[in-house]
Amino acid sequence: MEEIKRLIINEQIQEDEIVSLSLRPQKLHAFIGQKEVISALKISIEAAKNRKEPLEHTLFSGPPGLGKTSLAHIIANEMNSRITVTSGPAIERAGDFIGILTNLEKGDILFIDEIHRLSKTVEEFLYPAMENFKIDFIVDKGPYAKTINFNLKPFTLIGATTRSGLLATPLRDRFGIFHHLEFYEKNDLATIIKASAMKLNVAVDPQAADEIAIRSRGTPRVANRLLRRCRDYAQVKTGKSHVHEAVVKDCMKALRIDEYGLDDLDRRLLKIIKSHYQGGPVGIEALSATLNEEVDTLVDVVEPYLLKTGFLRRTSRGRELTELSIKHLVNF
Ligand code: ADP
Repeated sequence: MEEIKRLIINEQIQEDEIVSLSLRPQKLHAFIGQKEVISALKISIEAAKNRKEPLEHTLFSGPPGLGKTSLAHIIANEMNSRITVTSGPAIERAGDFIGILTNLEKGDILFIDEIHRLSKTVEEFLYPAMENFKIDFIVDKGPYAKTINFNLKPFTLIGATTRSGLLATPLRDRFGIFHHLEFYEKNDLATIIKASAMKLNVAVDPQAADEIAIRSRGTPRVANRLLRRCRDYAQVKTGKSHVHEAVVKDCMKALRIDEYGLDDLDRRLLKIIKSHYQGGPVGIEALSATLNEEVDTLVDVVEPYLLKTGFLRRTSRGRELTELSIKHLVNF
């Protein structure tokens, strides 16, 4: 159960971290899908390069595994900039953050993943840093308090968030460029799967790539993960590194991922709304307690795909089943 859950949950797991580095597109032209975002970014990057200025601060939002981190690295490559990578929860003290900021050179990129999880104190340092490339640091307290000003070099902050709604307005307003990444279409996912298969040296039939794509929850990270599981399955069951349609179907059956990409956790969630809450509406806290899953996991990882595919509806009174999920639940 745990293994199955980990497979579909599109948060980064350790194996991903290693493989994703090799699968990550390096340049804008190699980034598949998200056409509007990519063409807007191309213009912003070209304009900044022509002006010989750093790119404006950029915010990417959207569910995990859609390419926010990849885009930050791509921007650094396209701008020929150095990139410093950190995350909201990793910056615990304002002092650590000042260290990071004062080490940035002109044109450097600072990438903050999960920027909505920055502490309030750290966030307040960011406002003048983003706006005027300055920070004021108060040392000591009471009558001995002194303000030290630091001038920073012009840099680009790239923030990534799964929950742009949790960002404080003053922070959100300081980003000049803001893009929301949407779930990927099946054809784009199939193209990503084929490109990853080439890099991993695995033969994948076009129908097999399509079968994986429809079960990937619109998410490249899940697509790459399922591809690797199918490769393992093919190697063990057939002795060959050749993924064809039947291999995918058998492998997905073994992993209990259905043709909608739903896994045990999705089905449990839908079933519980039906059995415990008469189809809803039910609040997320109550669901989290009944399922024994973190609210954040449900909101960031499980729900977005169920909402997007019409299995779940969110109303002001909570989450509800839809006709589609009621029909589908019969087959669970
Ligand atoms: P996020 O930061 O949004 O969680 P990542 O940038 O870490 O997502 O992407 C997860 C993985 O999915 C990456 O390692 C990369 O291999 C793959 N990926 C994401 N978007 C694309 C894309 N558009 N084209 C090809 N691969 C992608």
